[in-house]
Amino acid sequence: MSSVVSTRTAPQVYAKLSLDAPKRRYDEEPADLNIPDNYVQWVLKNQKELPPITWQTLWGELNYLSLSILTITPAIAIWGIFNVKLRWETAIWSIIYYFITGLGITAGYHRLWSHRSYNASKPLEYALAMAGTGAVQGSIKWWCRGHRAHHRYTDTPLDPYDANKGFWWSHVGWMLVKPRRKPGVADVSDLSKSAVVRWQHRWYVWLILGMGFVFPTVVAGFGWGDWAGGFFYAATARLVFVHHSTFCVNSLAHWLGEAPFDDKHTPRDHMITAFVTNGEGYHNFHHQFPVDYRNAIKWYQYDPTKWFIWVCSKLGLATHLKTFPDNEVKKGQLAMQLKRLRETQESLKFALDPNDLPVISWEGFREQAKIRALVVIGGFIHDVSSLIDEHPGGRHLILKNIGKDATTAFFGGVYDHSNAAHNWLSMMRVGVLSGGVQHGLDDKNIPPSQRLWVARYNELSSSGSTSSTACSDVDEEGLLG
Ligand SMILES: [Zn+2]
Ligand SMILES: [Zn+2]
Repeated sequence: MSSVVSTRTAPQVYAKLSLDAPKRRYDEEPADLNIPDNYVQWVLKNQKELPPITWQTLWGELNYLSLSILTITPAIAIWGIFNVKLRWETAIWSIIYYFITGLGITAGYHRLWSHRSYNASKPLEYALAMAGTGAVQGSIKWWCRGHRAHHRYTDTPLDPYDANKGFWWSHVGWMLVKPRRKPGVADVSDLSKSAVVRWQHRWYVWLILGMGFVFPTVVAGFGWGDWAGGFFYAATARLVFVHHSTFCVNSLAHWLGEAPFDDKHTPRDHMITAFVTNGEGYHNFHHQFPVDYRNAIKWYQYDPTKWFIWVCSKLGLATHLKTFPDNEVKKGQLAMQLKRLRETQESLKFALDPNDLPVISWEGFREQAKIRALVVIGGFIHDVSSLIDEHPGGRHLILKNIGKDATTAFFGGVYDHSNAAHNWLSMMRVGVLSGGVQHGLDDKNIPPSQRLWVARYNELSSSGSTSSTACSDVDEEGLLG
């Protein structure tokens, strides 16, 4: 019921606010303002995908613009590599321009405009917009709309570069054919308000030619007379590398590496991905904390985009660098560490639960010790038959304690046994001595390997009772703190 009310009233309120406020030209209604609460489910159910592409339908389904850019550019670059000599000045300039245009995407398109992870001054915004255009990856608005959908619907059919459709689909396939389904809704109305974004959109074709091809060629041409090298290396070959560097964020970063913060989805952290993407390779962190201006949180990890933004902030060109609270970041890491520890814990054998062991009287123990090698230590009865010949201290010390309580001797009286010895001994438990064990009161009862334990919340009896108490024992409504 509440969802019906909210979806009906929200647009009315919004319409009223729009009427009251002076009408601005670039005020757009957020694209996701009126979507149903069950949007993802609703779209998947009601909007059918286009039929799969076959060899017969392929020609009609290709996206010829992307296909041309992504095939002709490398073809020209390869021709140039075999026919134009690479001068060292041009090589250095190509690498520098690779970083400049790469940063236009990572620091501009990605961290500034897609995620708003910091505020940039106007000169920096224009510089990033121009550098990003030199990477020839579409306008800021188009790029950010797809990227926001990628974050919002990661690993679902509404993610435009859904990693579950395979490495090559997320790398480049999604651009080469007409999408089988429209990407899920993602709002970019904030970007329409940006003068820089509108400026780039207006001059996009000219900026592509200028920043993608003319500028890198002119620098090499006027700089050291290498017009051909400037075009084939600094413009064209460099563009191929920038393209695939960015594409690796969608493919490699969802495929290679670890998930130190959360393994619910495909994003992964890996140094190699960071090296090929200007520092966007700590993608598991990034999908968990997308508004953080950092991808790498450790000082030694490779994240030149973070360093660039940080330097800009020191120069007064960038402000409001956002970082997620360290406490919350560490919680994610802890959860994953505990998960791995739990897996190790589940792969090991531990002492039997005292509740599963028979309770034996002292007399019963003494009687059975006449026919089995039984020893009491820490209130538990152990069958030490297998230990008699293996005991590092010699068999005589075992034999003399059969049928006796050797607690004092074991815990320092004769020898202060190691934790390993205590753990091993606990595996020989066959019974509990009646009245001999005080649960949880004495470390002698709990093997060292079981004193810290990874338990799920519903396995902790105390936490279960606490939460039910919190829900049921409230007499009157309180105030939120
Ligand atoms: Zn991603
Ligand atoms: Zn992102």
